[in-house]
Amino acid sequence: MYSFSISTQNHTEFTDITKEVQAAASQLKIDSGLITVFIPHTTAGVTINENADPDVMMDLAEALERAVPWKGRYRHSEGNAAAHVKAAIVGSSVQVIIEKGRLQLGTWQGIYFCEFDGPRTRTVWVQGSR
Ligand code: ZN
Repeated sequence: MYSFSISTQNHTEFTDITKEVQAAASQLKIDSGLITVFIPHTTAGVTINENADPDVMMDLAEALERAVPWKGRYRHSEGNAAAHVKAAIVGSSVQVIIEKGRLQLGTWQGIYFCEFDGPRTRTVWVQGSR
């Protein structure tokens, strides 16, 4: 397994980790197979979406905030229930096909770490299978 950390700077933040995941695939020597990116946190997640227009990820952040406002009627006493819900919506893992050692992503796709309760230091796990 390969892991790396991210220090997020904002409360909600999407970080393009495509380069780090490609580096992980190279390090794990996966030439042809699959790679799984897993986020071991309950208030952060990972998703694949557009990396060309940064407004897309801003729109995603704002849409999630409208759907799951920070202040609302929640039971969780820690006060960050909205972050848990958003993490559940985007999910904790993505899988990407590797061919000839390269991530097989669409032209406009990037892999984004999704912070919902930052700033914090976070960990990303990557494992490959042939
Ligand atoms: Zn909590």
